[in-house]
Amino acid sequence: MNIALIAHDKKKKDMVNFTIAYKKILENHSLFTTGTTGKRIIEATNLKLYRFLSGPLGGDQQIGSKVAENKMDLIIFLRDPLTAQPHEPDILALMRLCDVHNIPLATNLGTAEILIKALESGNLNWRNIID
Ligand code: PGA
Repeated sequence: MNIALIAHDKKKKDMVNFTIAYKKILENHSLFTTGTTGKRIIEATNLKLYRFLSGPLGGDQQIGSKVAENKMDLIIFLRDPLTAQPHEPDILALMRLCDVHNIPLATNLGTAEILIKALESGNLNWRNIID
């Protein structure tokens, strides 16, 4: 599966802890991140991943283009709803595309836990049929 990991600044520590906790599952998949999120994950876990641009420079849109091409299977996007983001339109566009294409999207740790467990137990295998 192709998995995208994105976290706003105040959520990056949560994302790092999440990837440490689920490294054994995540390392079996192709991981894609925005620039700074990916840098933090690599430093903490050594996971192999592809880093797009930083979010404010277009990374969210790059991930969105993969969603539009049906090349992303799962997105974990830890959003900070309490801080204004300069690239909010890009964030909304990415979330919209996930809804257009029925791509599983977690925007907080609670849903991320559920989706990673679904991934582990094969409950996202229907994505292989759609691919
Ligand atoms: P970053 O981008 O990982 O480069 O900080 C994430 C975002 O702000 O959408």
